[in-house]
Amino acid sequence: MTRFFISGLVVCLAVAGCHVVPDTGRRSLSLIPMEQEIALGESTFAEIKDAETVSDDREKRERVERVGRRIAAVAERDIPGLDWEFVLFEDDAINAFALPGGKVGVYTGLFQLVETDDDLAVVMGHEVAHVTARHGNERMSQYLLVSAGGIALDVALRNRETETRQMALMAYGAGATFGYILPYSRSAESEADELGLYYSARAGYDPRAAPRFWERMAEAAEGRASPPAFLSTHPSHGRRVSDLENHMPRALRYYEEARQSR
Ligand SMILES: [Zn+2]
Repeated sequence: MTRFFISGLVVCLAVAGCHVVPDTGRRSLSLIPMEQEIALGESTFAEIKDAETVSDDREKRERVERVGRRIAAVAERDIPGLDWEFVLFEDDAINAFALPGGKVGVYTGLFQLVETDDDLAVVMGHEVAHVTARHGNERMSQYLLVSAGGIALDVALRNRETETRQMALMAYGAGATFGYILPYSRSAESEADELGLYYSARAGYDPRAAPRFWERMAEAAEGRASPPAFLSTHPSHGRRVSDLENHMPRALRYYEEARQSR
């Protein structure tokens, strides 16, 4: 783990394969060229739309779209060519996901826990943050480093499209039913929580909905044989709520500004 961290750091310093995450200032590893990252997100999302059923609940679909766009409007910073898409899939799973390029999927099962738009904004903020922080690129880059080491790195940096794309597809595990979405790292999840809180507040949604929403999520997990997928790869509940409380003063400042500018 330490060795991996150091090698990541060296690469970060040595080449331009680095991205500074807006709002947190963290440097993240990004070896996949932006256009390829976006193209991969788009093709994977197209596959998912083919394989899954898009919900025919028009009211909920529009809600997902409206809240998602309002959040994306205040979140988008330095990533050109993002084409946001917010799609509601018919599935009882309490889950949502995000892919590079601005592709966000939400499952109807999530509405078991969503009451207000503030609640929905918690999820949309979190998923939009995975996109703007380029967590997909980071995950693929880490995979390239770990699994194929120098060769893959060389390929990625020389921008030889086919090879890089194949590696990236492997990193996504594309093809297996829903295995295509590798879990993000714990730290990426925490960062998405933090950024999501700021985004929803800037978009005018009450950030205090977040700890309450995750509370309900944790309750929903209790007594289930398998917890909601959304929880299994995410920070432990206690840690998550205490982190959110730490970020709350900053989020509340954004929320006040958003309300006053209306
Ligand atoms: Zn997440």
